Amino acid sequence: MKTQRIAVIGGVAAGTAAAVAVRTADPNAEVVLFEAGRHISYSACEMPHYLGGEIESLEELISYTPEAFGRERGIEVRPQTRVTEIDPQKGVLTSEEITGGSLSSNSFDKFILATGARAIRPDMPGADAENVFVLRNLDDAESMRLFIKDTELHHVVVAGAGFVGLEVAEALCREGLRVTIIEPGFGPLHDHMDQEISDEISAILNRNGITLRREGLVSLVINPDGTVVAVETSVGERIGCQMVVLCMGTRPETDLAVACGIRIGDSGGIRTDSGMRTNLPNVWACGDCSEVRRIIDQKSVISPLSLTAFHTGRTAGRNAGRRGTSGRAVFDGVSGAQALRLFEREVAFVGLSLKDARKSGLPAMSVDIRHVTKSSNLAPEVDILVRLVFNSKSGRIYGAQMVGAQGTALRVNVLVALIRQKQDVSALYNLDLVYAPPFSPRLDPLLVVARQAMHAVAENRILG
Ligand SMILES: Cc1cc2nc3c(=O)[nH]c(=O)nc-3n(C[C@H](O)[C@H](O)[C@H](O)COP(=O)(O)OP(=O)(O)OC[C@H]3O[C@@H](n4cnc5c(N)ncnc54)[C@H](O)[C@@H]3O)c2cc1C
Repeated sequence: MKTQRIAVIGGVAAGTAAAVAVRTADPNAEVVLFEAGRHISYSACEMPHYLGGEIESLEELISYTPEAFGRERGIEVRPQTRVTEIDPQKGVLTSEEITGGSLSSNSFDKFILATGARAIRPDMPGADAENVFVLRNLDDAESMRLFIKDTELHHVVVAGAGFVGLEVAEALCREGLRVTIIEPGFGPLHDHMDQEISDEISAILNRNGITLRREGLVSLVINPDGTVVAVETSVGERIGCQMVVLCMGTRPETDLAVACGIRIGDSGGIRTDSGMRTNLPNVWACGDCSEVRRIIDQKSVISPLSLTAFHTGRTAGRNAGRRGTSGRAVFDGVSGAQALRLFEREVAFVGLSLKDARKSGLPAMSVDIRHVTKSSNLAPEVDILVRLVFNSKSGRIYGAQMVGAQGTALRVNVLVALIRQKQDVSALYNLDLVYAPPFSPRLDPLLVVARQAMHAVAENRILG
């Protein structure tokens, strides 16, 4: 049988997972991984902790160098090589070496797009100034860290209060810098959380000395030397600063896909089937550049998360590598669980918020409880706020938001499992969760919130 040649484009979470899965599915395949950057296979999620000095060196974030990955996995890795065009019908890929600029064309039978996403930089003067940063890859992290070390900084503005914005703000604050976040929405994490939970997060920022301003970024004020000295906000205020970090979200990197006629979904990501195959028969897509199904409402969404990249990469790689028709891998969707540490608190989210569930037309309601994460006799300040979102008639769980002390974030994993199984609030209440005083109160907060939700559903049934 002819040896198949498979190109993987992009070498971080999705691309490396896909390349390894191809190799497992077809040990004889020739796999070539193209990566525009210098690094492959690293932990982007730990970059804020490197910025904040909790992780000393950039090398600690790297799982494999290109050489080690190639050697250990039997994959040809071409770092610093940008793929400029693919022609899936003819089976041709054109690439350009970043250093030197030499172009080459190679033949492949199949292609896997793992091109990720790019950080949004607003189209405004000063957005590419030397003291204005985004945090997307290791080069960004390294240049930010060097700038922080080498510059006399007093005040930093972070534009955007999503997960990355909050992590960056916390990291800079740990470095002893004064930080202001500007966020035009109703508050932190407003794409995920309901207002009341977002307010709780605002209070954590406030307690830890971070100023949060509910204003948008309108322009950057530039010095004659080209550096940005202030940001101008939507209420006409000028906030002086020596550094700006733009954390305004990401956009799927789909240029290569669009150029060769691959279909893009409404979310802006590459549309695929459940096996991560695009509309072209010999092209798969995975990771932040592709859409996935949200389990709750079957909507196609972008899920720019590390494990989504890993799972979709594995699925794409297995399917691209397999021969014949058997053993097709399927990616069955995401629950959307995310968490972050914010100073002494933990914040976690899964599924849909109340406002988003209602926006999707679901008959949703919610209950909130305040409880403790462990025996308060053993530790002070163990409070937790939990909001559970569910179907007002059937009790099916749609999502949860939590803010609280240590022990908060991983509780969301229980709900991940239940949401995937389309379970209701009584299934949550009936779980025999761990009880041990150092880890939980006698009745876990998840059981307490489930009990309240069951009452609410019962009341709703009587009234309705
Ligand atoms: C600061 C930060 C913190 C995060 N924290 C978390 C977290 O706590 N938990 C979590 O689950 N997720 C987190 N994430 C998200 C997670 O890192 C991403 O979902 C994951 O990296 C996506 O992997 P990917 O391989 O799809 O895309 P990327 O990491 O974007 O990699 C895509 C690669 O493709 C390359 N590429 C693109 N086009 C070409 C081309 N034409 N030719 C060659 N190469 C190309 C790019 O250079 C890039 O290196 C975080 C992300 C950031 C930035």
